[in-house]
Amino acid sequence: MTLQHYRPTRALINLEAIKENVRQLKKFLQPNVHIVAVVKANAYGHGDIQVTEAAIEAGATMLAVATPDEALHIRDFFPDIEILILGYTPVSFAKVAAEKNITLSVYSSDWITRLPTDVIQPIKVHIKVDSGMGRIGVTSIDELLDLYQSIEKSNCLILDGIFTHFATADEEDDSYFTKQVDKFKKFIDALPTKPRIVHVANTATMLTKDSTLQFDAVRFGISMYGLAPSPYVKNRLPFPIKEAFSLETELVAVKLLHKGESVGYGATFTAEESMYVGTIPIGYADGLIRRLGGQEVLIDGKRVPIIGRICMDQCMIALPTAYNIGEKVTLLGLQNKEEIAIDEWATKLETINYEIPCIITARVPRIYL
Ligand code: PLP
Repeated sequence: MTLQHYRPTRALINLEAIKENVRQLKKFLQPNVHIVAVVKANAYGHGDIQVTEAAIEAGATMLAVATPDEALHIRDFFPDIEILILGYTPVSFAKVAAEKNITLSVYSSDWITRLPTDVIQPIKVHIKVDSGMGRIGVTSIDELLDLYQSIEKSNCLILDGIFTHFATADEEDDSYFTKQVDKFKKFIDALPTKPRIVHVANTATMLTKDSTLQFDAVRFGISMYGLAPSPYVKNRLPFPIKEAFSLETELVAVKLLHKGESVGYGATFTAEESMYVGTIPIGYADGLIRRLGGQEVLIDGKRVPIIGRICMDQCMIALPTAYNIGEKVTLLGLQNKEEIAIDEWATKLETINYEIPCIITARVPRIYL
C-alpha cells in the first residue's frame, strides 16, 4: 500500500545518487572485496529498505546495522543478504539471530558463557577488536585468544570475521590511525586461523587514508549517501560523490508585516520596515531544530532567512516579494543554481553532516526518486 501524504513537507531521496556512489566505490576496490552497505539508523535517515535495495543493485554484498531491531526490520524484506550487527547484542537475541541468519559482533567470553543452551542452529560471529576507539572490542591479545577459544569450544558459534574501527581516519594527522592499524595487524597475526572476512575500512579509511586496507570487505557509510566524512576528506575524494538527501516544503501563508510588527513565540523578530513574511509547515518536531533559526532556505532560487523562533510544526521566512501559496521552498538541496548543502546546516549547528539526515524525524515522509 502506498501511503498518501497530505502535508507538503518531504525529504526527497535520490536513489540513483546512492547507486552511483556505490558503483564508483566498486570500481575503486579490488574485485573480490565485499562492499558492506552501512544502513544503520534507518540508513542514516534515508530509509533502510529503499537504500538497501539500491545498494545491492549497485554492487553491495553485505549490510551493517547497529542493533538487533534494525537487522530484523531489514531481514523481513531481504531474506538472503548477509547482515552484520556492529554493536552490542543481548544474549536473549541469540536464538533469533540463528533463525534469521544474522551475524553478530562479539567481544567478550563472558557473553558466550551467558548464551542460552537451547540455541541449536549456528550463529555467525565477527570478533570486534578495540584497536584504539575505546568503545567496544577486545583490547589485548590475551583477551582475543581467550575469546577465540571460547568461540571454538562453543557448539553454536561460527567465527566468520574479525574487524576494528578507526577513530581518526578522517583527519590529516596519521599518527593515531597508524597505531590502530599496527595494533590490529598484530591481533590478526596472533590468531591461530584467519576467519573468512577481515574488515577495517570505513569511508574515510578507504577513500583517503590507505586503499591497501581493503582486506576482504569495506564498510561504506557516509559517502554512500553522498557526504564526505570531514572537510579534510572532502578535498581529497578519489571520485565525485552525489548527495542523496534533500528537504522541501511549500508556502502555506503569506502576509505583509508592517514596520514594528513581530512574528513567532517571544516576538523575537520585529520588522524594521514593511516586508512580506511566509509561513512554511516544518518545525522542530520535524528536525528543524530551534538552533536553525536564521538559517537560509531557497525560494524561487533565492536565499531567504528563517525569522523568529522556529515553532514545533511551522516557521516563518522573510520574503522578497508576495509569492503565491504553494510556492516551493527548499531547505536542503538545489533550487535553480543555488544550493543549501547538508554541510551548511552541520556548520551552523557545530556538528557533523552525519547528524543532519538522522535528525529529520519520521514525521517527514521520505519520497524516493
Ligand atoms: N563501521 C562502524 C563500526 C561504524 O560505527 C561506522 C559508522 O559509524 C561505519 C563503519 C561507517 O562509517 P562511515 O559512515 O564513516 O563510512
